[in-house]
Amino acid sequence: MKVLVAGGAGYIGSHCVRQLIAAGHEPVVVDNLVYGHRAAVPATVRFHCNDLGHPDAIDAIMAAEKPDVVMHFAAFAYVGESVTNPLKYYQNNVAATLHVLEAMLKHGVNKFVFSSTCATFGIPEKMPLTEDSPQKPINPYGQTKLDVENMLKALAPATGLSFASLRYFNAAGASEDAVIGEDHEPESHLIPLAIGAAQGSRPALQIFGNDYPTPDGTCLRDYVHVDDLSRAHIAAFAKLTTPGSQNFYNLGTGTPTSVLEVIKAVETVSGLKVPASFAPRRAGDPPALYADATKARRDLNWTPKFTSIEPIVAAAWRWHQSKPKGYGDRK
Ligand code: UDP
Repeated sequence: MKVLVAGGAGYIGSHCVRQLIAAGHEPVVVDNLVYGHRAAVPATVRFHCNDLGHPDAIDAIMAAEKPDVVMHFAAFAYVGESVTNPLKYYQNNVAATLHVLEAMLKHGVNKFVFSSTCATFGIPEKMPLTEDSPQKPINPYGQTKLDVENMLKALAPATGLSFASLRYFNAAGASEDAVIGEDHEPESHLIPLAIGAAQGSRPALQIFGNDYPTPDGTCLRDYVHVDDLSRAHIAAFAKLTTPGSQNFYNLGTGTPTSVLEVIKAVETVSGLKVPASFAPRRAGDPPALYADATKARRDLNWTPKFTSIEPIVAAAWRWHQSKPKGYGDRK
């Protein structure tokens, strides 16, 4: 199928582009390169450098490409920034998505795969999280993703749009050949920061909180390999054949891993010490977030290849070792 990948130069989008090619599909990328990297997209893939905030541009791309499916990864994802600058998040994550959907419907494109997040669940009362767990986001980032989910729920019966909303847990790792990987600036994620601390390219790691009600006092998260996430997106195509079909999936391995366990994995994989010290809790961090991924495994026949933290960290480590400065295109 021809797949328009919005945000295809970003971390998860670029891995998905490569998985699409591997599965025999034809990806076309649109990305404004604000956070994405041109070098993350193979030169053979058609690339539109455009901002989804410009309705005329996205309309023209949709008219010219007429894709079978749109995958939408393009969003801002810094929780703290979403609190201090919510308008930026509503503009990019909600308003720009509306432009994409508008252009799709105008040009008869009615299959959509959306990057959602476990941040839509807020601070959950019960673990693991199923697709039906209550969604009560605690920051504008999570709220904007939930707003789009609600927009999709309204559009499906009204327009025949079929969609899959995939709620990612903690995307991690890098391509198995270490050609593409995680390169955020600023970086706020645990694994690249811990690896950078071990390499000496970043400051010592701060462990945010060691007094949580968890086995070792640090937060539990569900780390899922970015290529496994990508494969779930492609598996979701099978669910989009019925007009108006609405699908929600939690994408995690279901294995909770603590911050200290991540640090230990980095030390094992690298053979280096991760300089780290305990620091106060980070505002808005739930003690534990992990998925019940039964539905994705059952309905999508999705079996994550990476089910424990070490091989995920090993993939990230290979990328950071081979590209210590990432893509080297930081502005
Ligand atoms: N974390 C940490 N130090 C850091 C960055 C993250 O202790 O410098 C912790 C954070 O509090 C959370 C976990 O690592 O419990 C994963 O955080 P990350 O930002 O990678 O992802 P999130 O779960 O917030 O989406």
